[in-house]
Formats: sequence, C-alpha cells, structure tokens
Amino acid sequence: MTHDNENADLSDLSTLGFTTRAIHAGQEPDPRTGAVVPAIYQTSTYKQDGVGGLREGYEYSRSANPTRTALEECIAALEGGAKGFAFASGLAGSDTVIRSILRPGEHMVIPTDAYGGTYRLVDKVTKSWGVEYSTAPIADVDAVRAAVTDKTKLIWVETPTNPKLGIADITALAAVAHEAGALLVVDNTFASSYLQQPIALGADIVVHSTTKYSGGHSDVVGGAVVVAKNIGVPEFEDAAERIGFHQNAIGAISGPFDSWLTLRGLKTLSVRMERHCDNAEKIVEFLASRDDVTKIYYPGLASHPGHDVAVKQMKRFGGMVSFEVAGGMERALEVCNATKIFTLGESLGGVESLIEHPARMTHASVAGTDLEVPAALIRLSVGIEEADDLVADLRNALDSTR
Ligand SMILES: *Cc1c(COP(=O)(O)O)cnc(C)c1O
Repeated sequence: MTHDNENADLSDLSTLGFTTRAIHAGQEPDPRTGAVVPAIYQTSTYKQDGVGGLREGYEYSRSANPTRTALEECIAALEGGAKGFAFASGLAGSDTVIRSILRPGEHMVIPTDAYGGTYRLVDKVTKSWGVEYSTAPIADVDAVRAAVTDKTKLIWVETPTNPKLGIADITALAAVAHEAGALLVVDNTFASSYLQQPIALGADIVVHSTTKYSGGHSDVVGGAVVVAKNIGVPEFEDAAERIGFHQNAIGAISGPFDSWLTLRGLKTLSVRMERHCDNAEKIVEFLASRDDVTKIYYPGLASHPGHDVAVKQMKRFGGMVSFEVAGGMERALEVCNATKIFTLGESLGGVESLIEHPARMTHASVAGTDLEVPAALIRLSVGIEEADDLVADLRNALDSTR
C-alpha cells in the first residue's frame, strides 16, 4: 500500500500506514532490555510497591497483562478504534459485547446466515438470559430496517458472510442502526482488518475471531473487540468502559502466550492478505473456466450481487471462495476427499489451504432451516501456497470425480 507520510513518527499512530501499525503499535522495544519483540508475560500477579502501589496499572492478569495490552493496542490501531480488547475466542468476545450492551428485555438483529456459533450463542445462551433477537438478510437494508423494534439496541452483521460470501452495506446499516438508537456491530473476521475497516464506514464496534486471518497460522484460538471513538448513539458513549468492565467481570480473556502468537500473526497480515487475494482470484478464474462448476460465490466477481458494495468498502475481496459442482452432494463430497494440498477441515484464514463441505460440516446444524446451504456447495479457504499448485490440485480433484 502506498502511503504519504511526511512525519513518520510512532507517537501518532493515526498518521502511519497499516503495516507499520501492525508491526509497531503497542510494541515499542522493551525499555529495560531493548527486546524488540514484546515479552510473554506469563504471570498471574504483580508486585505492588506498598498497598495499592501498582506499576503501570498491573495488578492481576485477568484484569490486565502486558502482552495482552500490546495486542489490544495493536488491534485497536489496525481498526482505527479507540479501544481494543482481546478474548479467549471470537465467541467469548461476542458474548461479552452482547452482555455489555443489551439488558434482558432488549432486542438485537442478527444475520439470517450468521456464523453458526454466533447464532447458537444468541439463540441458546443470551436468549435464555432475556435478550430477544430477530434474523434479517443483511444484504437487504430495508429488510434489516423492518426487523428493528423499539427495543432494538444492537444490529449485528458479518460481511462477507459464511459460506455464501454475502455482502452487507456497512454505511447504510450504520445509518439504520443509529436512527433506531442501536449500535452497529460488524464481525470483520472474513475480510480481516486489512481489507475492511468497518469503523471508518460508520460501525460502532468491530469483532474478530482472531483464530482466522489475524493469527493466520492455525495455531491459536482468540477473539478481539474494538470500540470506535465516536459512538453513533449517545446512550452508549460508554461502550468501551462497559466492555472493559465485562471483560474483567466475565473473565474470558486472551492469555499471554495466545496474545503473543496473535501479535506475531498480525505483523504479516497485510502481505498474507494480498497473497490470499491473488491466489483466490486465480482459483476463481480457473473455476469459471470449468463447465462442471455450476456456481461461484466470490464478491470480486462482477456477477456477485454484493459486488458494487464490496468494491466500495473492501480493499480487495479476500481469500474465501465457495462454489457448487455439477453432480450434487455426492460429487461435492468426493471432490472434498480428493484434494491433496487443500486439507479437509473446518476453520479458515490460515496460510494453508482448506476445503470443506458446509452442508455436512460447518453448517450441518442448520439443515432443514432457512439457513440450509446447497448440497453441492464446497467452501475453500485459499492459503498462500503457490497458486499453480492449488489450481492443479483442484483440477485433479474435479477431473478424477467427473
Ligand atoms: C470462527 C468465527 C467466529 C467464532 O470465533 P472463535 O474464535 O471460533 O470463537 C465468529 N465469527 C466468524 C465469522 C467466524 O468465522
């Protein structure tokens, strides 16, 4: 990314480009030893200089830990937010956001095709705690507006969605939310902080499963929440304080080693994402050349219904590609079993390419509901291997199952 900066200076992160922030935000060399990389502060507690005499505010590692602080500062800087919070998983962060903003009796809107774990959290956990919800197809702004009630305090969107890569217009939905006195939360996991910056588009809160592209190496489970500086609803101006309070009170924090791994991943996020996008584009081009591929879901395609919005709000179109094969469920399962470089597995966003069959794997639990996915659908998390090898692997898998 080109970036004009006459006064390169780490004291004002907002003047620095994305990758500079990824490498330096929250991560100054250690003043005592000069260590360039933040230490893993594997400690639960801190010596006090006299009762209540805390050094830099550290008292107990559920409340705060220096390695986690480094990650929280970095992720806030990457999303252009005021405050970041790191959690033990994406869902731990989501749960903390819902409990911080909503009270029993209030209402939230979630995507019809929400990430399955988010749907389960809302339907099975926070609903029994008293929070009502409705689902809406988030690509349709009017449908989201129609789902809002006088109790709605949160509109929750993912964009792109999983597994069909639907696109939500973040700016339009922020307006719908704020008009209703509700906050807009964007789950930015599929796009990553590099490709999409929801806060600049009007979102109030961004959540991530850092397990995916942020960590990027399939070796850590984590979550992040970033709160905007300017919150769109006065009632929630204290959103960051509420979330900070609940992070400590509920306690689903990111541990020091997991925080460190995630920070290490973030340093290369931009270069990994460029490569994920390059490879995904080549794979889409290959799939489009096949007469036994009946449908391709990728927001970079001009034929994708969300393409224009994606062009407006994403730098590029990401590393997730879904497609349907001729031959139905049986063939789709065969293709998933036939690849040699694409590993059959759930999750996404790592350097290695993964293939999966949503109807039988990630989305098995929504069979028979409105969320059911096509039986012939295959989802790829395109890794950063050599594109030619990935294309050859898919070609072999498709040819050998014809
Ligand atoms: C994986 C995922 C989550 C949940 O994150 P965990 O780290 O698995 O708890 C939430 N949203 C999306 C879009 C995801 O892909």
